Amino acid sequence: MLRIAIQKSGRLQESSLQLLKESGLSFANGKDQLKTQVRNFPVEVLFLRDDDIPQYVEDRVADVGIVGENVWAEKQKNNDLVRRLDFAKCRLSIAVPRSETYTGIRSLQGKNIATSYPVIVQGFLNKHGVQAGIHEISGSVEIAPGIGLADAICDIVSTGSTLLSNGLKEVEVVMQSEAVLIATPGLAPEKKTILDQLLFRIEAVQSAKNNKYILLNCPNTSIEKITSVIPGMKSPTIMPLNREGWSSLHSVVNENDFWEKIGVLKSLGAEGILVIPIEKMIA
Ligand code: ATP
Ligand code: ZN
Repeated sequence: MLRIAIQKSGRLQESSLQLLKESGLSFANGKDQLKTQVRNFPVEVLFLRDDDIPQYVEDRVADVGIVGENVWAEKQKNNDLVRRLDFAKCRLSIAVPRSETYTGIRSLQGKNIATSYPVIVQGFLNKHGVQAGIHEISGSVEIAPGIGLADAICDIVSTGSTLLSNGLKEVEVVMQSEAVLIATPGLAPEKKTILDQLLFRIEAVQSAKNNKYILLNCPNTSIEKITSVIPGMKSPTIMPLNREGWSSLHSVVNENDFWEKIGVLKSLGAEGILVIPIEKMIA
């Protein structure tokens, strides 16, 4: 039995549940539950406050957990970072009042920085040889400069609109973050086997999300060139069309260079291009 801790409520909760469900785990997620048993896999899911998860994983109350990389880095618990999960992407940044002239990290010398991430901020300041005060607060960090509590803040930014509406500007990116799977080091072999099975499934879900199934018609004379553009997993499937000199070609294309490749395919004579989502992908 593997115990997985996920966030009880907040930004990570839904995507964490979705990832487990897409990995084939079936469970009822009744609200206000502390834990739930997965019906078809030897896993128990614990619902906890995200900030507490690294401690619970260190204490082996949970074997693995899903948290923001920022929380993992801040807590400095005995946790291995096993896998980045590709959701809840954000950055931890320093921001100062918009009216402030900022000429570089040295501008922070002697200032007071409000943050919920004192360990990460201290590490960042040390790295750059800057001395500044750190004022730890647990929420609404962005209002600190406005009420005279601090000269600067360090907080999570995704779009920057919260900073803007509080009259702040982002001046330094301290770290990039996304949801990560953490684990207690030295899992028992039985738990390690379950975790490996789960990671295999997570990988299939992740690669499926990053790839699309593509079908197109092309003149036979272009098949070779198109194959070099979209080689697919082993090679594309080619089927003859009921029209002399033409084929249907099926392959897989990565989301990241999708639009660029479509342009190239069209220039090679591809027509009738269909792009279809993939649910699971196993190499
Ligand atoms: P609390 O625990 O007090 O509810 P929190 O900030 O820890 O507050 P959430 O706001 O749910 O909890 O954020 C959880 C995690 O989601 C953060 O640690 C961060 O990794 C990520 N995150 C936070 N804000 C954003 C955002 N705007 N965009 C993407 N990811 C975010
Ligand atoms: Zn939290």
